[in-house]
Amino acid sequence: MNESKAKPKKPRGVARLIDGKCIACGARCQSSCPVNCIEMTDSGEPIIETAKCIGCLKCVKICPATALEMYFTPGEQKILSELANISSIATEDEPDEESRQLQQMLARYRGVWVVVEQHEGVTAKVSWELLGTGADLARTLGVQISAVIIGHSVGHLCTEAFEHGADKALLLDAPVYLHYRTQPYSEAICHLIGKHRPEVILMGATAQGRDLAGAVATVVKTGLTADCTGLGIDDKRNLMQTRPAFGGNIMATIMCDKYRPQMATVRPHVMPMPDVKHGSKGEIIRETFAPQEDDVLVKVLEVINDRDGKDQIDVAAAEIIVSGGRGLMNKENFTLLQELADELGGVVGASRSAVDAGWIAHSRQVGQTGKTVRPKIYIACGISGAIQHMVGMQDSDTIIAINRDPEAPIFQVATYGVVGDLFQVVPALISRVRELKSQNSGYEPARAAA
Ligand SMILES: Cc1cc2nc3c(=O)[nH]c(=O)nc-3n(C[C@H](O)[C@H](O)[C@H](O)COP(=O)(O)OP(=O)(O)OC[C@H]3O[C@@H](n4cnc5c(N)ncnc54)[C@H](O)[C@@H]3O)c2cc1C
Ligand code: SF4
Ligand code: SF4
Repeated sequence: MNESKAKPKKPRGVARLIDGKCIACGARCQSSCPVNCIEMTDSGEPIIETAKCIGCLKCVKICPATALEMYFTPGEQKILSELANISSIATEDEPDEESRQLQQMLARYRGVWVVVEQHEGVTAKVSWELLGTGADLARTLGVQISAVIIGHSVGHLCTEAFEHGADKALLLDAPVYLHYRTQPYSEAICHLIGKHRPEVILMGATAQGRDLAGAVATVVKTGLTADCTGLGIDDKRNLMQTRPAFGGNIMATIMCDKYRPQMATVRPHVMPMPDVKHGSKGEIIRETFAPQEDDVLVKVLEVINDRDGKDQIDVAAAEIIVSGGRGLMNKENFTLLQELADELGGVVGASRSAVDAGWIAHSRQVGQTGKTVRPKIYIACGISGAIQHMVGMQDSDTIIAINRDPEAPIFQVATYGVVGDLFQVVPALISRVRELKSQNSGYEPARAAA
């Protein structure tokens, strides 16, 4: 009779903090814990409730300072060394069948795509910004960057895509794609994914991009990270998708390591516009897939420009923005900022506090729940610099902050900081600009984008 001794169960241990190593990164360990057994101290260090810890290793893996380790009791350590002596354990680190299949699946997906958004043959600029970013990702991955162009009579956009960095253009040109509708556009992209298997798909975080990306990700059963502010590639070819989380208090890097394609949306003006290389050529792949019009449930009867009669200023496209916050005190004081903006040829923006107070329209709000802007000059008047505001303007070329509190966080991102009362500083700026303009009749203010 064969006697077989049951193999002892591998202990999982519990996580513990290594003294002095935590850098208080913003509670990444806490947010990774699936059983909520990590509390944070006031100084931002974790306290781990070991009785609840299931030893999943998530906090250990995510900690950027390797400040967490697994702890095993002496009894558990003994079992571990016994297991190490069992020959089968020696092969434990070799990939099992499941991970082999996963690696095979991941290897079948190659290439970076940018879905180009267009309205009546005119592209949304964010698509070109994403081609620049996508080209960097493609270079890191050693693959090609493709523009996916869907519409009717939109063949000319392939040339524009090549000039903005695309190696290839996947073109779907048919009457059914004349106006954006979720059903035919998402069916088209799902078809292309099934046929070409890209590993990364980027779309603008516009009304259309948000709608389309969500529909496609749901059908192809993959992950989607919305409103990314940073994209990169890790050493396993995974897309690192960074975006504000927990109300903007921390920046989270999100990975989709078990599904493909990896999908992300990025808001306009978050990524820089790539240089246009006139005359660049690429490969056009003409696809014929087109749903039958009768099968499309939604019909577009008329397109009405929703900006008619509304605030026509596009803060996101302005080159000079003079923004006001709670420090403005009331609605009437915004005329002071308008005066400065007019002198500079810019537009007026605002923090959410000013918008919430009803001093200015929401369309002017800059920040996480407003517009992301990247102007040449951003003048922040009476704005403290909350993280939710700064994620929307910190990539401006030059930031000028006017605040009477020298400790205001806005000064951390400011190119020039003026500690003072805005009601003195702004009028002084206006009269100085007027003075300079009268001295130099050739002065040309920047154009506000309407
Ligand atoms: C989920 C979420 C999303 C958010 N999204 C956004 C967003 O998109 N955009 C956004 O802006 N905020 C957003 N917020 C709000 C954000 O957290 C801040 O509350 C807001 O940005 C603060 O606005 P503020 O700087 O105008 O006001 P405050 O923080 O009150 O700052 C006013 C500043 O004015 C200065 N000041 C006062 N009087 C004067 C004076 N006479 N001269 C000079 N300086 C003066 C003060 O020193 C102070 O620094 C969001 C918050 C959450 C939770
Ligand atoms: S090992 Fe897992 S369960 Fe334990 S504290 Fe870390 S994340 Fe939580
Ligand atoms: S993840 Fe690491 S560095 Fe960040 S708070 Fe936790 S222990 Fe500290």
